[in-house]
Amino acid sequence: MDRNLAGSAGTSPPDPAVGRVCPLDLSPLAPVVFATPAEVADAARRARRAQRAFSELTTRERIALLRKAARAMLARRHEIMEIVRVETGKVDIEALFNEALGPLDAVHAWTKIVTRHTARETVRLNPVSFPGKSAFVDMLPRGVVGVIAPWNFPVAGLYRAVIPALMTGNAVVVKPSPHAPASTAWFVEVLASVLPADVVGVVQGGADVGEALIGSGIDACVFTGSPAAGRKVRMQCAERGIPSSIEMGGKDPAIVLADCDLRRTVAGITSWALNNAGQACGAIEIAYVDRAIADAFVERLASVWKSLRAGPGPRGEVDVAPLANRRQFEIVTQHVEDARARGAGLVCGGRPTGTGLWYEPTLLDHCTEEMHVIRDETFGPVLAIVRVDGVSDAVALANQSRYGLGASLWTRDVDRAQRIAERLLCGVVTINNHALSGAIPDLPWTGTRETGFGVANSRHALATFVRPKTTVVDRSSGFELYWLPYDRGLFDLGEALSDAQIMALDRAWKLPLLLAQRVRRVKRFFAA
Ligand code: NAD
Repeated sequence: MDRNLAGSAGTSPPDPAVGRVCPLDLSPLAPVVFATPAEVADAARRARRAQRAFSELTTRERIALLRKAARAMLARRHEIMEIVRVETGKVDIEALFNEALGPLDAVHAWTKIVTRHTARETVRLNPVSFPGKSAFVDMLPRGVVGVIAPWNFPVAGLYRAVIPALMTGNAVVVKPSPHAPASTAWFVEVLASVLPADVVGVVQGGADVGEALIGSGIDACVFTGSPAAGRKVRMQCAERGIPSSIEMGGKDPAIVLADCDLRRTVAGITSWALNNAGQACGAIEIAYVDRAIADAFVERLASVWKSLRAGPGPRGEVDVAPLANRRQFEIVTQHVEDARARGAGLVCGGRPTGTGLWYEPTLLDHCTEEMHVIRDETFGPVLAIVRVDGVSDAVALANQSRYGLGASLWTRDVDRAQRIAERLLCGVVTINNHALSGAIPDLPWTGTRETGFGVANSRHALATFVRPKTTVVDRSSGFELYWLPYDRGLFDLGEALSDAQIMALDRAWKLPLLLAQRVRRVKRFFAA
């Protein structure tokens, strides 16, 4: 492991990820070695020391380093594809497209955003109110950014935090999920092989190590994960007085209108429900389908889902990955059982397949509000279908969700869809597709309600990584009208200025007189 990587020694406290297995075949994986509190503090200290010199590089120099690292990642892509395959069970095509393929594109996109929105801004001041004065605003790195990551996209999920944090001159310490420690460590290791020593580091462990990282004196925190953990992280950051970007779960609905292109809608919803075995914050978990086409929709969807390959098979010939860990497998199993017990119709799937954490793509029809598959994040290859009476019904149900990340509308009438989109209380709406903007750095990825109000991607996310610093320069040599000592004339001037602003002209006529008096007073002061 590289010299820049912290957490190489320590203890292994009890954690669900210890004793973890390969989801493909249940073969044992190496246990995670957790960083001790002292190692976490040391990683933060080293990052802080390294950050100063790193922030003195020009943005262009930092971009050049990040480009070099991104090229190295692409060149070494087969390594990471294998690590995420073994550690999280991703199928080859998804390991390539979801995890390995994006770093250089991400660097290019962030280059545009960072250079455009963090350059020094000269602010013009009103020369009458502020004679001789000028001002500018610099965007400075916050210092050390802690990134606490989930397991579902253990490499690509980091692009949107680590790349802009480094590009803007911060040092970064990453705390991977204990369910995907090696994948995230690989990403950090490649970066560390190119960047100056200690500018990026990793501390392995569970919630305790995440808490220790926040407590280690970092200057900002980016958290992605579940609402339960996210709330705690937000509180801890607030107590420490550091900014945090907290991105939590999702339960995205697809709203299927009666006039949709059924063939394309079925194909699109299938992909966005089953990519990464549905283990994505922006996965479609519910389909609100207009009753008029519900039978046809369910029939077509079932025939596609039944044809998908979801179980151990030759590499490159599997469509749906297994669940990534035992905890997730249990949640999915429970949600499906709960829905069936409460009267949902099982259209297809509903069973594990083969050795490993494989689970059949599962369609549940006639789902209702009280079921877990409607209320809570399932994070699996499961789609809950709710038959609705038109758009208003669908929008009302979608807006009742605990979560508010994304939603999609499937219809041929795009103009109408844009009007419906305005009524959806969520962060991202996609018309005739779903969630594709999650991988577009130019567009904000954000939510409402329990998804949290953190923003990833776009200029709106920059506030986590940079702080504005204002500098005002006064080139005038005279005294200000309002400087001490005070006299009655200054008070009258203030009154007249207020009257002038609200156009109380009966008294504001005194304004020129009072101003002249001030100027005489300042002159007298100089003469004395
Ligand atoms: P999780 O909340 O269990 O863990 C996320 C990370 O937080 C892990 O590194 C974990 O060790 C750490 N952690 C947990 N408790 C902590 C605490 N008290 N203090 C500090 N750190 C703590 O989530 P997970 O199961 O790894 O990931 C799945 C979740 O992530 C899902 O809910 C999914 O929707 C969400 N997610 C959201 C987005 C988004 O953009 N909104 C993206 C990806 C995943």
